[in-house]
Amino acid sequence: MAKKEIVKKAVVKENTGEFETESLEPENKVVTKPMVKVKPKPILQPKPVVKVQPQKVVIKPMVKVKPRPVVQPKPVVKVQPQKVVIKPMVKVKPRPVVQPEPVVEVQPQKVVEKVQPKPVAQTGGIVDKDKLRREKAKELKRKEDLKLFASEAITIKRELDGLSKLPSINIPIIRAVDFLIKHAFFTRASDIHFEPFEKYVNIRLRVDGVLHDSFKFPKESQSGLITRIKVLAGMRTDEHRAAQDGRFRVEVARPVDRDFDIRVSVVPTYYGEKAVLRLLAEQAEIESLDDLAFTVENRAKLNRALAKPYGMILATGPTGSGKTTTLYTSLKAISSREVSIITIEDPIEYSIEGVDQIQVNNQTNLTFANGLRSILRQDPDAIMVGEIRDQETASIAVNAALTGHKMFSTLHTNDAATTLPRLLDMKVEPFLIASTINIAIGQRLLRMICLNCRVKRRLTDLEFQGLKEAVPITILKQHREFYKGQGCKSCNRSGYKSRVGIYEILEIDDDIREAIIRRADAGELKKIAIKKGMRTMMEDAFQKALDGVTTIEEVLKMTYED
Ligand SMILES: [Zn+2]
Repeated sequence: MAKKEIVKKAVVKENTGEFETESLEPENKVVTKPMVKVKPKPILQPKPVVKVQPQKVVIKPMVKVKPRPVVQPKPVVKVQPQKVVIKPMVKVKPRPVVQPEPVVEVQPQKVVEKVQPKPVAQTGGIVDKDKLRREKAKELKRKEDLKLFASEAITIKRELDGLSKLPSINIPIIRAVDFLIKHAFFTRASDIHFEPFEKYVNIRLRVDGVLHDSFKFPKESQSGLITRIKVLAGMRTDEHRAAQDGRFRVEVARPVDRDFDIRVSVVPTYYGEKAVLRLLAEQAEIESLDDLAFTVENRAKLNRALAKPYGMILATGPTGSGKTTTLYTSLKAISSREVSIITIEDPIEYSIEGVDQIQVNNQTNLTFANGLRSILRQDPDAIMVGEIRDQETASIAVNAALTGHKMFSTLHTNDAATTLPRLLDMKVEPFLIASTINIAIGQRLLRMICLNCRVKRRLTDLEFQGLKEAVPITILKQHREFYKGQGCKSCNRSGYKSRVGIYEILEIDDDIREAIIRRADAGELKKIAIKKGMRTMMEDAFQKALDGVTTIEEVLKMTYED
């Protein structure tokens, strides 16, 4: 229905395998196919089997969002012990809730390794030799892919270093942009910033939530870089004074074998246009709720809420706290042939199989509120509204939850308890809040310690003081030993790699309900919830620091928030 896409495509195929010695590949072949309607995979992509040319990136510009129904990430990538290296991720990084291993000092990334189906045949005791052979071949291919990855990542970085030092007139713009995107992908960056300054263009990458200076390109290459980005994203190249938004799709061939969307924003600044590219590429990372770092209790609360036939599940936290991931993963968990799930989002971060996703479009007046109204006429079982930020949306959402729908949404509040009074502020009646909300999830993302260079360290007195207010002193006193990453090659010397979710889940029970109805404030609601066993985000974070998943510095960051 509202999923009308106009997609303009200029397809650029580029073989990027030529480095140093072998430069066998044809330079950027540009194929331009104008087409009106969306077509998921227009590009025939013969798998590059040859090793020399590992990475083929196909970039397709598109103007409007294109929810793609079925791209399932290849499991191959997932099983790799080193998988963290290869996948950029904006958000949460799985780590089993209960830390499986006692922390050993330099422990090569074992923990991430997923259980792999044993290649043992069990057909009535007869060993299936073919199957074994196939498994063996697969395993070999995986190893090869890994090697390919590592060398590819290094080559791209080297190539970019070289490119950025060329005299500006010689910089191959198309290659530079494509390599930057790939480099971002390999370093697991979520965003690429092209920032114009007086004398150069600064390229920064956001990795695990933190920006890093990456390259400086000569000032003269600025307009070329920005124009290239605009072309990819289907923006007007002759417009320099207005802000523009766009989007395009990138396909990465073997060994990655996946594609993802890049959302682009260009704004005029004093020294020219600044572009930010956001890589929407996290779906492969989060497969199921098991990949989110919920405690057993929190997982049980979430399961109970998901099992209820109607009511609201709210996720809350600042921007970039992983709310969407939590909700997407929950939707995936309840998705089946028997239920209809519809979402309205801004933006659609990635497509979920079996879910109808609608993009908010203010130009056509397809707002959260209007979209939600239309969705309700589509006979859905479950609905997700990207965000409840106004009274109108709040009221429709609550009514939808009341009339037999599972409702998922996010709110912009600091913690779980504040969600409830926030809805009161939006003029939702207390009894409606009390009777429709199942759980409110408060969350944050903290950086995870790189497992490759993790070492023990003791808590300093200063840190002890800082934690005193957030963590009960009796608990704090028992623990002095924590962990940190020393910094190594695999984490770009940062000591961190990937991120982990920190959660608190407030379950609405009779006591909370009663408190909501008498309009209790967030502080009181939180107290009640804690008494009933809610583990706060701070406690969750502290535990994860004790377990060596994150650092005390990351935990302390949370205490500065309020
Ligand atoms: Zn490291």
